Amino acid sequence: MTPTLAPPVRELVLIGGGHSHVQVLKRLAMAPPPGIRTTVIARESHTPYSGMLPGHIAGHYTFDQIHIDLGPLAQAAGARFIADEVSGLDPDGQTIQLLDHPLFRYDVVSINCGATPGFSGVEIDTGVVPVKPIGRFLPHWNAIRTSSESRLRSGESVHIAIVGGGAGGVELALAVHFVLGGIGDLRVTLATASERLLAGHNQRVQTHFEQLFASRGIRVERNFDVRRVAGGRLESTTDESIDADEVFWVTGVEAPEWPRRSGLAVNEQGFILVDDFLRSTSHDTVFSTGDVAGVTDQLRPKSGVFAVRQGPALADNLIRTLEGRRLRRFRAQTRFLSLISEGGRVATASRGDWFATGAWVWRWKDWIDRRFMRRFQELPDMVTAAPTVAPALQDDLPDSMRCGGCGSKLGADMLTRVLRKLPTTAHPDVDVGIGDDAALLKGNGSQIVISVDSFRSMIDDPYLFGRIATHHSLNDIFAMGAQ
Ligand SMILES: Cc1cc2nc3c(=O)[nH]c(=O)nc-3n(C[C@H](O)[C@H](O)[C@H](O)COP(=O)(O)OP(=O)(O)OC[C@H]3O[C@@H](n4cnc5c(N)ncnc54)[C@H](O)[C@@H]3O)c2cc1C
Repeated sequence: MTPTLAPPVRELVLIGGGHSHVQVLKRLAMAPPPGIRTTVIARESHTPYSGMLPGHIAGHYTFDQIHIDLGPLAQAAGARFIADEVSGLDPDGQTIQLLDHPLFRYDVVSINCGATPGFSGVEIDTGVVPVKPIGRFLPHWNAIRTSSESRLRSGESVHIAIVGGGAGGVELALAVHFVLGGIGDLRVTLATASERLLAGHNQRVQTHFEQLFASRGIRVERNFDVRRVAGGRLESTTDESIDADEVFWVTGVEAPEWPRRSGLAVNEQGFILVDDFLRSTSHDTVFSTGDVAGVTDQLRPKSGVFAVRQGPALADNLIRTLEGRRLRRFRAQTRFLSLISEGGRVATASRGDWFATGAWVWRWKDWIDRRFMRRFQELPDMVTAAPTVAPALQDDLPDSMRCGGCGSKLGADMLTRVLRKLPTTAHPDVDVGIGDDAALLKGNGSQIVISVDSFRSMIDDPYLFGRIATHHSLNDIFAMGAQ
């Protein structure tokens, strides 16, 4: 990475740490464009790679193996990372609303914040666990797995229902069965509104998985269009029902509400309309990719594959826009490879009419997934090159200790010894001087409490750092009994 000394003159903001944005960050880390300050705003600091989620559920991968830590990646890219949720956008005023920060201004914004399983037209009472956002699903899954294991071991039966017959639902059902099935009386049911499993895949793939489900004793409820979920009971539009202890929701995704409200052009389903340059059809300074975007004239299924493919083109066009250069067109492929895992270390490949299955397909998938993740998890050279000063100034950089608060303080004994040696100047207005949490000065009929502190910036979120510094300083003031 070449250190850049140019002051930032353009603000690039990336909303979401999706599959495209991690590639934008990687690209910025490899070749940082001068004069551009990048900020990533994402709800979670760890962004999951959903292709490996079923493998995590089945116990093949750890949490760290299926997540990209956005902090180090942003740092390598010379970008600021802000952990917060975006709740709105003003594309004309070029500002972003966040839940826990003030308005954020941008010159160019890119939105790659994914989408979540849809509940449209379904009456939900309680007891449904949507698989996305994965960051919220995983704590639920961990609790459900622990309680299910103990119930199964004590001889009780456990019934888990999965709603959604696409690749995500199929893989999740098989993974849950794989990890809990051998313990005791586990029942798994998959409910799908379609006639067959894996609609959109070729018939050999569909038949293979239907036979696999039958051989494992996983029930499939076809043409089961869920109308209502209450207390673990699923009711269909044709008045059939399934009673389960847990219900996982893995249906097709719905767009978040805020892009539609913002005045951006969206399609009928609320996905952000973008052109072949991945740029909003209504606003030149807005780009979008992945599940949240709908590319005009390029209708494709919502799948991580497309978000991944769009990443390099997006990075290129964001930089070109900021530098005032011509944009490049991106066309997504029409057919793509799906590698669908089967719980254990076996997977099936599907592409157009092609079908293959076996342990070798799982090893192939594992190799592809791990290779993708390694690009963002192993950043040794870029991280060490992160400080953006000229080589001659490197020695003046502070050491790598991140703490600038308590960790940077002298011990109380040593500080007292040093302070005792300082000349003290008595002043009639000073009631308490050096040596306490804060000084007390005589005010006009009251006392004034004064504290001076200085902090080295230890995080790159200025708003959050301001709050930390304020709390820290107020502690000293409150310690003196001030109101
Ligand atoms: C079980 C399962 C298995 C799957 N397996 C595959 C597979 O093998 N291959 C495949 O191609 N697809 C797979 N998919 C589909 C895949 O998950 C999605 O298509 C893909 O994640 C979309 O990627 P994305 O980059 O658009 O967004 P995401 O990967 O969903 O990333 C969204 C990011 O935005 C952040 N975010 C969201 N909202 C906000 C907000 N308001 N403010 C700030 N940040 C926000 C999130 O924290 C996250 O960082 C699977 C899905 C499931 C459920």
